[in-house]
Amino acid sequence: MIYHVIIIGGGPAGLFAGANIRDKKILLLEKNEIPGKKLLLSGAGQCNYTNNMAISEFLKQYGSKGRFLKTALYNFTNCDVIDFFDRKGLKSIIREDGKVFPHSLKAKDVLEVLIDSVNHVEILTRTAAEKVLYDEDKKLFYVKTHSNTFASYNLIITTGGKSYPGSGSTGDGYQFARSLGHTLVEPKPALTPVYVEDYPFKELSGISFKNIKISLWKGNRKFNEFTGSFLFTHVNISGPVILNNSRYMDAGDILKINFTSLHNEEEFRVYFENLIRDSGKLSIKSALKQLNIPKRFIEKVLEIAGIDENILCSQLNKNYRKKLIQLFSSYSMKIKNLGDYHIAMVTKGGVSTDEVNSKTMESKKISGLYFAGEVLDYDGNTGGFNIQAAFSTAKLAAEAIERDIP
Ligand SMILES: Cc1cc2nc3c(=O)[nH]c(=O)nc-3n(C[C@H](O)[C@H](O)[C@H](O)COP(=O)(O)OP(=O)(O)OC[C@H]3O[C@@H](n4cnc5c(N)ncnc54)[C@H](O)[C@@H]3O)c2cc1C
Repeated sequence: MIYHVIIIGGGPAGLFAGANIRDKKILLLEKNEIPGKKLLLSGAGQCNYTNNMAISEFLKQYGSKGRFLKTALYNFTNCDVIDFFDRKGLKSIIREDGKVFPHSLKAKDVLEVLIDSVNHVEILTRTAAEKVLYDEDKKLFYVKTHSNTFASYNLIITTGGKSYPGSGSTGDGYQFARSLGHTLVEPKPALTPVYVEDYPFKELSGISFKNIKISLWKGNRKFNEFTGSFLFTHVNISGPVILNNSRYMDAGDILKINFTSLHNEEEFRVYFENLIRDSGKLSIKSALKQLNIPKRFIEKVLEIAGIDENILCSQLNKNYRKKLIQLFSSYSMKIKNLGDYHIAMVTKGGVSTDEVNSKTMESKKISGLYFAGEVLDYDGNTGGFNIQAAFSTAKLAAEAIERDIP
């Protein structure tokens, strides 16, 4: 038998593609014992499936890949996702920060809806696709598993990236794409914490800062500046400003972190010099309370600077003042490495978007071949943008296939 469509991978992209192709013979292959294992982990088991942000703002959440995703995101928006689940009886809640979750706060309810939507699809679990071939003359795809070979007119590759390999996403789709003549942009962990050299903040684990500025330096050149929330963990630095911008970071780069609420080092210098001058009789520790920075961080910075916290401000010499200005407003950290695929939430890189039609998700090389979800070279910020992109790209592919098969 020849299927109209074979879908490889039962994550949100694969399931949603299947859900949106009706009245066709569809086969979905999933290597795990159940589809959607990663979806169950998402949003700490609560599944943050989209964001309430205006869809026009969404495009900025994917770095330079917003342009490629524009048609997909406008064609199936965040409101459409909310509406889809609503119609299936799963209401959404929107958190203050814009993140959208199922009302039950259970990822398993989201997965249930998706699985319920593919009851017209033949699903083979515990069945890994091992090889993919294309017969140019017959215009047929062949997908080999350990015990079978399946044939189809259309193939959708939705195997995800390489992050959290235990969830089934082990980068198989990259090999399939390559074997079909596609180019890969080197995959790399993204949405991942960052390990820095000589990390001194182990005991500050859990301390966070809102809206701080970080500049990223490559060589001696300032590459970019980012603003957002920051977190110390017991082994690395994290929080949205680190996770979301880890896509731009590499080992050896320097991060200069402004822990103050002032704009830059120069502004802080003026503020700090005034503070010290006006607090002559106070200990440095007491004076620094005015910075509105967590106390334990201040104590740590004083320790790093080698300054006795009881020293009076009037006794603080120029060198110490200089050191503190730099540590508070331009703390320099050298990146040792990024978190690997076991802790990176998504994968940057993947199937080159130059070779995929952004209006249909169809390969520009082989007609009938489609890609959707994280296997493609895009990665979104935290906040529901990755699952939304998986749905939106899958919807485009499904619609294109529906149009093509009478
Ligand atoms: C811990 C964690 C939390 C996250 N939280 C969120 C969140 O709250 N919001 C958000 O937007 N994003 C979140 N993400 C990212 C999001 O889960 C992914 O971007 C999304 O799941 C990608 O969907 P996908 O369908 O493209 O791929 P995946 O979800 O990775 O699914 C791919 C599927 O393909 C299967 N597969 C792979 N190879 C084969 C093969 N050879 N044969 C058969 N099947 C195969 C896999 O087993 C898997 O089921 C999170 C990620 C992680 C790791």
